[in-house]
Amino acid sequence: MIPLNSDTETKPTAAMRRAMAAAEVGDEQKGEDPTVNRLVERVAELLGKEAALFLPTGTMCNLVAVSVGARVGEILFADPLAHVLRAESGGAAFGARAMVEPIRCERGIFTAQQLDEAIAITTLAPPVKACVPKLLCVEQTHNLSGGRVWPLESLRAVTDHARSCDLDVHMDGARLMNAVVASGTSAAEFGACADTLWIDFSKGLGAPFGAVLAGSAAFIEEATPWKHRLGGAMRQAGIVAAACLYALDHHVERLADDHDNARRLSNGLAGVGGIRLGAPAPESNMVFFDTADLGTDNQTFLGRLRERGVTMSAVGSGIRAVTHLDIRRRDIDEAVSAVAAVAGGAGP
Ligand SMILES: *Cc1c(COP(=O)(O)O)cnc(C)c1O
Repeated sequence: MIPLNSDTETKPTAAMRRAMAAAEVGDEQKGEDPTVNRLVERVAELLGKEAALFLPTGTMCNLVAVSVGARVGEILFADPLAHVLRAESGGAAFGARAMVEPIRCERGIFTAQQLDEAIAITTLAPPVKACVPKLLCVEQTHNLSGGRVWPLESLRAVTDHARSCDLDVHMDGARLMNAVVASGTSAAEFGACADTLWIDFSKGLGAPFGAVLAGSAAFIEEATPWKHRLGGAMRQAGIVAAACLYALDHHVERLADDHDNARRLSNGLAGVGGIRLGAPAPESNMVFFDTADLGTDNQTFLGRLRERGVTMSAVGSGIRAVTHLDIRRRDIDEAVSAVAAVAGGAGP
């Protein structure tokens, strides 16, 4: 199978497994796992923050961050396609119990003016009845818009503006390292735009699971009871932290290969009749397209593609393909041939 459905498909490599087997471990919950301690120090430094917390998943990073960052009667702003709104089973409503205000924008990335428009709506009622704008969430790279990368200048323009409006800024950096490699901007420069942010190790970085949430020392102090409350405090978690450290050493620069493969896939698909690409060129490791012109619904199309050994995923009425460490260049060429074969024989 050629698993292009998600970069979460990556399996730990043999070398990563060796690093895991050799990990020094201790009771993480008590702060006594040396490998976890090394990981959180390293990620805090990478992201330019004072401190960091190891959590099992990125979803828990968002849940902890919004729970600390906003409360009942306060407002959390995010673009309508943000993972924190669309794909976390209502975690923000459950943890923060805050109001969620989507920012009207196209495809994930917005301007200071669009943020202003969203803020303006929230202050229509008299202060005693209105909620208080509190937290802005931004996503880098932006998943459901096709792996788009916020360029540093536009990100900074929005987050500077947010801060001037007394909002804190949280960054969902599930694929921040893809943005770093795609743009040449450092993780710390992106990090400086946010008060809290995290990176995921289970996506293109190739670890089995694990994510690290970073912020000020005061934020991490408040976040730590949430880690316990949500059941995210672990024991010999160094086994997994070792995989994350291994990923930082060996799997960051190679994300450029995934981006090359995404471009190759996009170029290949551009030549297939009936395939409409979501964007002229991928900005990181994702390619979105739809098959509406073929008169086939995407589930049927994906089923036929799977029969030919290629998996992709459905996003709304479209299709998403994601490149990663377990996808080689020749897999891309095979995937393009498979799409062409399915498209060639397509019909309702
Ligand atoms: C995958 C993802 C998450 C959640 O991360 P998990 O580790 O799968 O819980 C959050 N945000 C974005 C943008 C993601 O792509």
